[in-house]
Amino acid sequence: MPSCPKDGTEVRSPVKEWDLSPKSRKGPKLHIRLFECPTCGYRWRVVEKVG
Ligand SMILES: [Zn+2]
Repeated sequence: MPSCPKDGTEVRSPVKEWDLSPKSRKGPKLHIRLFECPTCGYRWRVVEKVG
């Protein structure tokens, strides 16, 4: 479970998530998840390679 880098609050679900097409056709597809800490309001993104 992702946690806030500022204060360690665990955030269960992302506020937003989307797929990002690779810049080149050979590159991996990326899946972006945006998390927002309910405690301090800090936002951060987690990027995963898909496939
Ligand atoms: Zn926080």
